[in-house]
Amino acid sequence: MARERPEFYPIEAPASSTRKASFSEPASRSCLIVQNRLNCLVVYKSLLLFGAPGSGKGTQGKILGKIPGFYHCACGDVFRSVDVRSDFGKEFLKYSSKGQLVPDDITIGLWAHQIEAMQNLGRFKPESDYLVLDGIPRNVAQAKMLKSTLDVRHVFHLDCADKVKVYERLKRRALKENRLDDINDEVIEKRQKVYQLETAPVLDYYGEALITHINSDQPPFQVLRDILNDVTAWTDHE
Ligand code: ADP
Repeated sequence: MARERPEFYPIEAPASSTRKASFSEPASRSCLIVQNRLNCLVVYKSLLLFGAPGSGKGTQGKILGKIPGFYHCACGDVFRSVDVRSDFGKEFLKYSSKGQLVPDDITIGLWAHQIEAMQNLGRFKPESDYLVLDGIPRNVAQAKMLKSTLDVRHVFHLDCADKVKVYERLKRRALKENRLDDINDEVIEKRQKVYQLETAPVLDYYGEALITHINSDQPPFQVLRDILNDVTAWTDHE
């Protein structure tokens, strides 16, 4: 069944705005730019790639992000793009090197800043693109903080039962991408525990109706096929 949801809608007008009356009018595509300029909330239609570290979210996200109409944003990549000598860079290393999550307010703030920058550069066009998120929201508190920003259309849970495979992937990536967090077994173990304790409950938060569980023990092209088959099935009804 077709789901009718607003792509964009304003939450509040600036206090000084003399155009406040217009904010009660329904949003339409033609007034998006005006709304953005007036500092209103943009709601992003989003797909979430979900799964434990090493389940292949990044691999799939990068491929999906190459398809017109999909914009991929990996929260870990946003963090890693920050200069490690900056205050934030140091803060990130402090948590990630121990396998812990970065505090929620810092995470959401930096993520929002990055998404806005990508919109301003014209790389991400929220009026037409699906935002493919990987690594965020990573706990229920973040999901709640993003509730009014994300219109979550679907959640792909990449489920990798073969833990040996996961460890191998993480170690290979650590060497290739110089990822300190996955060089040591203790940190990998901690990251998996944090996933079970803090991240997995996000699945319950969104509920089964939005989730497709995908076997990510399969080779990447088969995981991609499963994701795309699913996207095809439900976008046909939109
Ligand atoms: P993976 O792809 O292996 O799941 P990420 O690259 O997404 O790992 O994340 C690496 C590290 O960055 C995490 O262990 C955590 O310290 C930090 N991080 C990434 N995303 C978030 C988030 N949404 N909230 C808090 N910390 C995060």
